[in-house]
Amino acid sequence: MVSARPAVAAMPAYRPGRNPADLAREIGVPRAVKLASNEVAFPPLPAVVEAIATTAGETNRYPDNGATVLTATLAERYGVAPAQVATGCGAVTVLQQLTQAYCDPGTGIAFAWRSFEMYPLLAQVAGARAQQVPLVPGAPGGAADTHDLEALAAVVDESTRLVFVCNPNNPTGTAVRRAELERFLDAVPETALVVLDEAYREFVTDEDVPDGVELMRGRPNVAVLRTFSKAWGLAGLRVGYLLAEDPAVADAVRRTHVPFSVSSLAQAAAVAALASEDEVRRRCAAVVTERARLTAALRERGLPVADSQANFVWLPLGERTAEVAAALESRAVITRPFAGEGLRVTVGTPEEDDVFLGALDAVLTSGGAAAADT
Ligand SMILES: *Cc1c(COP(=O)(O)O)cnc(C)c1O
Repeated sequence: MVSARPAVAAMPAYRPGRNPADLAREIGVPRAVKLASNEVAFPPLPAVVEAIATTAGETNRYPDNGATVLTATLAERYGVAPAQVATGCGAVTVLQQLTQAYCDPGTGIAFAWRSFEMYPLLAQVAGARAQQVPLVPGAPGGAADTHDLEALAAVVDESTRLVFVCNPNNPTGTAVRRAELERFLDAVPETALVVLDEAYREFVTDEDVPDGVELMRGRPNVAVLRTFSKAWGLAGLRVGYLLAEDPAVADAVRRTHVPFSVSSLAQAAAVAALASEDEVRRRCAAVVTERARLTAALRERGLPVADSQANFVWLPLGERTAEVAAALESRAVITRPFAGEGLRVTVGTPEEDDVFLGALDAVLTSGGAAAADT
């Protein structure tokens, strides 16, 4: 028998969230509410649907491997040169390209934990050391939900090639602010590339939370990761991108990309989405309004929910997490549990969130899972 590499054999099998249609059928309800993957609840933008329809007639051909139009559009939007932009088949693939480009076995990748679940897996496949730094309470006596940038800077050593800072942090929703992030970037040696993962940037409302694209100026070891999967509504098409101060970083990411991995549909849709930015902003504003309502409703129930700067909220339920998530699923609401830590709940439509709150009330009052376990 041919054996997979030990690092690969040791990887946990990927377990996707429950499919809403299957779950609805199983428990005999018309529709399950999916609040598990941080998509926006709005349908695709009209301009996106139109662009896909137009491009459908060209799908017998390979896509533009350099994503020239999308790259130029992004460069113009962010005020950088096209050479500073690299697109990928979802931001996750860009992260994979970064590890392929920078991490030999034995090198280090530093990041906070808990954070985006892909980070440790990327390190494992690369044979790199995951230099994990625990989150700390953002509020006195609260749950550990916030980056400890001083500690993160302290673990960066000469073996560290990449540092991921997820801002706002998935799954806790908290964000680090300008002064501490600038101090952190000043402290990290130029031999490590700091990647600011801003998958949720469009939902940030705190003016003290800096735009990574502004922070990276003049810092050749800083890059910013963004995606079309969340605010821009293209999760099903797979397109993300990196903006780097040093064009050599974008070049390294381009060198490791799987040819043609950003499809022609994805490229056309992303360009159309960028042209619909006003509508995207209106949608994000609606999400932000609903985020505030959901947060307040959860706090009224005695749950210590941190201020979220993303399109999800974090319920630090501790040991009760898995049980609460399962009980919610039996009531047709799919959330994202991190067993033993907490539940991540995507901000849905007001109607979806009311279904979630009703199910949560039923779960919390039906014994077992009483209140937050802090
Ligand atoms: C969703 C997400 C991404 C990007 O996902 P893609 O769909 O691959 O673009 C990247 N980072 C974080 C933290 C995310 O939550």
